[in-house]
Amino acid sequence: SAWKELQLHPAIEKAIAALGFEAPSHVQAECLPAAIRDRRDIIGAAQTGSGKTLAFGLPIMQQLLQERSAAGAAGTAGDAAGTAAAAGDVAGTADGAEGGPAGRQPCKLRALILAPTRELALQVCDHLQAVGKACGVWVVPIVGGISALKQERLLSKHPEVVVATPGRLWDLMREGQAHVTDLSRLSFLVIDEADRMVQQGHYGELSSILGAIPTHQQLATAEAPEAEDEPAEKEPVKKLGAAE
Ligand code: AMP
Repeated sequence: SAWKELQLHPAIEKAIAALGFEAPSHVQAECLPAAIRDRRDIIGAAQTGSGKTLAFGLPIMQQLLQERSAAGAAGTAGDAAGTAAAAGDVAGTADGAEGGPAGRQPCKLRALILAPTRELALQVCDHLQAVGKACGVWVVPIVGGISALKQERLLSKHPEVVVATPGRLWDLMREGQAHVTDLSRLSFLVIDEADRMVQQGHYGELSSILGAIPTHQQLATAEAPEAEDEPAEKEPVKKLGAAE
């Protein structure tokens, strides 16, 4: 099938099959090869219901799984998938469960997805959890309406992926919540419905959050094909050398 050509990690293929998606949607077919194979930055414009969420979600899952295999944990990827499924609903296990799937290593934040409203953030989170569970990747919401206690419990699991509204996330960052202030390993930033985000007056919080992301991450995602002179302010970039 068209999914095969994308050479997705087997855990992702399995999750997609379980969801019953026979082929990539249009926006997925456009975005996935560029994001996964060429590691390019993406600006996607598509209607709600077009499959946008997985268009940005699958490249995140794919890279996290690839890194896990590369780190020599190939054997545990299958394991993690199994235990994650056994753990049941990801957000639902917040009460009681100690630290996510058994054997899962605490992890720094790797992907941050921002959405303009609580409803949208929760919807995106649910959708990514459906895939994340099968991959052993922890996805957690940060939105208004979650009690401070529950929010802290969710973050105490050190999720790789967070789906947040800017207001609530910025509150936690200002309070110094450890998991969301350490962005040193952040590899993916997604701004869902960016137009609405600005229209709804989240611009200030959004820029504060973006300002907290270390420069080299921003640069690492902006891989220019012909490396031109770097502006002086980007000088601390220690040659991440992603492309070399
Ligand atoms: P969006 O809000 O744009 O992510 O749209 C997501 C909706 O499309 C959800 O109901 C998904 O379950 C569904 N969906 C996502 N990808 C596919 C696909 N490849 N084939 C069929 N349905 C899909």
